[in-house]
Amino acid sequence: MSTLSAPKNLTRNVLIGMGAGVAVASAFYYGQSVISDSVYLGIQNYVFDLGGQVFKNLLMLVVVPLVFFSLVTGISSLSNMVKLGSIALKTIGLYLFTTAIAVSLALFFGWIFGLSGEGLQGEYAPKDLTYCIPGMESNSIYCTILNIFPNNIFGAFIQNNMLGIVFISILFGIALNLTDDLTDGFSKSFEKLNTVFIKIVLIIISYAPIGVFCLMGSYVMSKGLNIFGDLAQYVLLLIFVLIFHLVFTYSLILKFFANLNPITFFKKMKNVILFAFSTSSSAATIPITLKTVTDELGVKKDVSSFVVPVGATINMDGTAIMQGLATMFVASVAFHDLSLVDYMQIVLLAIVASIGTAAVPSAGIITLTLILGSLGLGLEAIGLILAVDRILDMLRTSINVCGDAAVACVVANSEDLLDKNLFNK
Ligand code: ASP
Repeated sequence: MSTLSAPKNLTRNVLIGMGAGVAVASAFYYGQSVISDSVYLGIQNYVFDLGGQVFKNLLMLVVVPLVFFSLVTGISSLSNMVKLGSIALKTIGLYLFTTAIAVSLALFFGWIFGLSGEGLQGEYAPKDLTYCIPGMESNSIYCTILNIFPNNIFGAFIQNNMLGIVFISILFGIALNLTDDLTDGFSKSFEKLNTVFIKIVLIIISYAPIGVFCLMGSYVMSKGLNIFGDLAQYVLLLIFVLIFHLVFTYSLILKFFANLNPITFFKKMKNVILFAFSTSSSAATIPITLKTVTDELGVKKDVSSFVVPVGATINMDGTAIMQGLATMFVASVAFHDLSLVDYMQIVLLAIVASIGTAAVPSAGIITLTLILGSLGLGLEAIGLILAVDRILDMLRTSINVCGDAAVACVVANSEDLLDKNLFNK
């Protein structure tokens, strides 16, 4: 009998994979003198890097169809279409709310601890910006809104335009629901396809310990363990605020808005956190987030299939925290005093930027340019931030996905679509 349960001992094996990746890659990195450059590069590129990329590709491969089929089935099964209206409203409202808290916390702690990058200089090339139409940068509000309404269904799928795909899926799901009696119950076929894709995800996940071994090894082989360098204050403060937000904000939200036990929540989220950490991509983590939120936290599919993919796309609290602190840091490097209006602008811009950030590794750095540019700060210092961004990206992605799951629980609870027995189990 085929089942849809997670592979056995997954967390333990993923942790072993992580540890082994770091250990083996460190041995190579610190023993570089005893092996030739070509052997070193060969191992780095063809073992760790390639293995890591293949694993990430496999996860990314299922994201679009999974989002599509799970959203379509979720929405078409919502017998009461009006419900989606209130679910959507609460979801978006909560996402904006938690992101605003996240970036405000970052600025508050940055100010309290006197975050400063004084004395640090560097020469760094700014990232090239892309444009959705001539003259409009792809991370502008204009392009973000336009992306929700793609002019070509297949184009949206090919370009991984998540907001567009979410919109198309909603439209399709509604139409599927409204025509089910004309199409002989066609919606059933979508439920079946959804099951098939979940199985594909589970097959891929069973190889995660090897994938994670390669990903961690690839990071360590390129930078060694000493990837923190001179930016200790920025790095430590960022880690502190990320963990603070994770532990306090989400616990309070779960407790006050839904009377749920935060400890149970975090315990059940450990696999999701590990995956987000090792892939640095909320999008690549969607399959695991969806599964955990639905099967372990007890959120009914109707809610999770909407809240999780939308959250992975627009809700990035960890990214907003990074952007708040990075902006303060860059301002300090440039000897630019931030005014109260500047701070308010950073909060608003970080919310918009985190919505526009693609849920893939390092995307938050690209939208950071949007904030720096709007404040008239040079983009040169971004290189400093980039140098230490790898591990921070891993951490903030874990916070991003936890935010999605916490909001999913709260929204489901408010709609009476949360199985509390399953949550507490
Ligand atoms: N890697 C992050 C994510 O996928 C986005 C970012 O770079 O902040 O959630």
